[in-house]
Amino acid sequence: MPLQDVAERVRPALAGFEPYDPAFSPCEVNLSANENTHPLPATVLERFAQACATTPLNRYPDPLANELRDELAAWHGVARESVMVGNGGDELLFNLLFSFGGPGRSLVVAPPCFEEYKNFAKMCQTQVVEVWRDEQSMLPNADALVDAARDAALVMITSPNNPTGDLVDPELVRQLLDQTNALVLVDEAYVEFARNGSSLVPWVADNPRLMVLRTLSKAFALAGLRCGYLVADPQVIDVLAAIRQIYSEDVLAQAVAVQAVRCREELAPIVTDIVAERGWLAQRLAQLPGAVVWPSHANFLLVRLPNAAVVRARLRDEHSVLVRDFSYAPGLADCLRVTVGTRNENDRLMAALEAVVEGGQA
Ligand code: PMP
Repeated sequence: MPLQDVAERVRPALAGFEPYDPAFSPCEVNLSANENTHPLPATVLERFAQACATTPLNRYPDPLANELRDELAAWHGVARESVMVGNGGDELLFNLLFSFGGPGRSLVVAPPCFEEYKNFAKMCQTQVVEVWRDEQSMLPNADALVDAARDAALVMITSPNNPTGDLVDPELVRQLLDQTNALVLVDEAYVEFARNGSSLVPWVADNPRLMVLRTLSKAFALAGLRCGYLVADPQVIDVLAAIRQIYSEDVLAQAVAVQAVRCREELAPIVTDIVAERGWLAQRLAQLPGAVVWPSHANFLLVRLPNAAVVRARLRDEHSVLVRDFSYAPGLADCLRVTVGTRNENDRLMAALEAVVEGGQA
């Protein structure tokens, strides 16, 4: 008998969800997913290969990834008990909502921002309160956020924000901590691309309701490995430790991530290069007819262009260059998000854009 009533069998809160669509098409130049496209130094790759070759696969992983936690804790000057590792930042975001959200509780977000917050909140039956950013500046409305957060279980703020690129004003985080009782997550997935001193990790020790999310997917060029981490109060970490999928961080991910953190000085020049390329690309994008480019502290730029969806399709189909279309999203009419690539990739992007935009009929 075929299964006919699966929609009725599924847990009501989970009905209607669609699989995540990264809107990927194979292209020669892929600047669509905020990945780090720079090649890693041979010495670093060699250490990763060595780590994989010497890691037995027949044994279960350490559920809490303690060697990696220690490496991350030493880097950030915190105790192991303040760090939790996850299968990408995504797993930690889900687990935060699973643990601290739920029926009768709410999450406050400042869209346009990372959409997974909302999806995970809905899956965990958590009400989502959206405090929209200013349509021109794309900056959050601080007073409205603090007001909304007074009754909230959780607030999630992205810094730098995806897709707008701005850093949160630390004063806003201060107000959220002082004037509300919510748990405040600052998602710093892209913070390595911002100026030194932008991270709020040093605040965690004195602010037990502050949690900072980081990932190895961006600056460390390990999006495929799936490793993110949270720095938070040990009591928050204990809750996450208790509810997590026990072996979600596999042995290879743990072994490679340990090496990556140890190699961070060798990876730093790549981040410096991406930051320099971001400045170059921002200037070039701004010269396109009708373009608006927002200042970015991340490894991507948000650009508004006339007929953005058509431009994006033509870049893909005629020039094999893939960027992300956000023109369908509320508040982001005619907006594309382009990842900052290598100079060669950025040149390909600009040549393609100039051909499409200046050739007309976009
Ligand atoms: N936060 C933000 C703002 C992101 O853009 C992303 C990935 N695109 C993540 C978290 C999660 O990254 P990952 O799961 O790869 O660590």
